[in-house]
Amino acid sequence: MLKIGCHLSVSGGFLNMARTALEIDANTFQFFTRNPRGGKAKALDEKDIAAFIEFTREHNISGFVAHAPYTLNICSDKAHIRQFALETFEDDLNRLEHIPGCMYNFHPGSHVGQGLEEGIDLIAAALNQLLTSELSTIALLETMSGKGSEIGGRFEDLRTIIDRVTHQDKLGVCLDTCHIYDAGYDIVNDLDGVLTEFDRVVGLSKLKAIHLNDSKNPLGARKDRHETIGNGHIGLDAFRQIVNHPALRDLPFILETPNELSGYAEEIMLLRGMYQE
Ligand code: FE
Ligand code: FE
Ligand code: ZN
Repeated sequence: MLKIGCHLSVSGGFLNMARTALEIDANTFQFFTRNPRGGKAKALDEKDIAAFIEFTREHNISGFVAHAPYTLNICSDKAHIRQFALETFEDDLNRLEHIPGCMYNFHPGSHVGQGLEEGIDLIAAALNQLLTSELSTIALLETMSGKGSEIGGRFEDLRTIIDRVTHQDKLGVCLDTCHIYDAGYDIVNDLDGVLTEFDRVVGLSKLKAIHLNDSKNPLGARKDRHETIGNGHIGLDAFRQIVNHPALRDLPFILETPNELSGYAEEIMLLRGMYQE
């Protein structure tokens, strides 16, 4: 069965979020750990979490992804910005220990002129502080479009980060279809070739989740503007191939398309209809 869902708001609590997922026929989903613009996370409500765990088990909802605030930059050129990102990531990881099976997705960051090497060094150093052997959560580096000085626009960036991390079993990758298309990986005409390249450089065993987004921009545009499924430059045929590809078909697929809930429900129905059981 296709594991598919979308980005949801956790502001009404965890149980409420899982109920919303069920309503739109999602069996996985993603949420922000806190307001993406920063700020303090709400205290976890133990009863809500317990009810959430029971509800999601009962309805086979799994493969949750918690998304770190995208404004954090763990490899900033400013020490206080790096420190703030580190403290936020650490607090998020501590909280996620209470939510079994939830992965932690984050943007590698932007080197803001320090250079790729320095940026990668800073990211790896931070991950070596954050990822301990006791941690049950797996952190996911997201593939990026490579806009500005963003790190993660090349599969090689991710490989180099992983190579420098001690507890590599706590680190995986989330592949965003809009981002890699914008970064120049042609998943429309050569999905097999792109996935072979990913396997050669990073390793498909590292791939833990997919962000399923169409792109408002053409191949290699380095823009990162998501479009609804089938209405962008990636297009429906490519999404049919993506959800059915043997290397991807069992992973959780998360929609981050510009939609209200009803739009997400339609996209989930559309993609379920394309999936070959
Ligand atoms: Fe993201
Ligand atoms: Fe994404
Ligand atoms: Zn994006």
